[in-house]
Amino acid sequence: MEHIIRFEGGSDCIRFECVHGSKDCKPGCGGSHGRHGLSIRFVSKGDKGAVQFLLYTGLCPQYVVPSQIGVRNCEWGGAALPADLGYHAKQPQYEGQELSHAACEFCDGQPCYYEGSGLNANDAMYALVNGGGDALWAFLDAYYASTFAGAEYPIPAEFKTPLRDANAQVDAPSGATAERR
Ligand SMILES: [Zn+2]
Ligand SMILES: [Zn+2]
Repeated sequence: MEHIIRFEGGSDCIRFECVHGSKDCKPGCGGSHGRHGLSIRFVSKGDKGAVQFLLYTGLCPQYVVPSQIGVRNCEWGGAALPADLGYHAKQPQYEGQELSHAACEFCDGQPCYYEGSGLNANDAMYALVNGGGDALWAFLDAYYASTFAGAEYPIPAEFKTPLRDANAQVDAPSGATAERR
């Protein structure tokens, strides 16, 4: 499997002039593109197409003038959102599936049948946050196998250590307080 990561820069048509040069894009109006944070696209690619996880970071473009000592005090904020888990397939995956794009880079430039789910994206996020890149790629490779080779839909990785005992968690702080008295 080939693993590809794309960082797709954000845009902010409210604070900045329209990134597409559209005259109808005015803040607060129907034609406005609004703002969109940096997205990260993780793609696991094979012979039959690819699967992808799309992560919205909520991190928007900034314009901050550096202070006298050259520091840009950016308020990054942002809120991560697992946006999409889906597949790009060279062949339709069910009867009547409609073509999504005529030439897809993740299908080696061939026509692509795309389908994705915002709900399932949570599983990929779970793997990524709990287990890092290795766990995410393992999940995406297994999702590819479930999409294209009839394997089971994968279970995302749990964090490497088990939860603490719930009773021990409650006891510890009160014990510490008792000692200090
Ligand atoms: Zn715009
Ligand atoms: Zn595609």
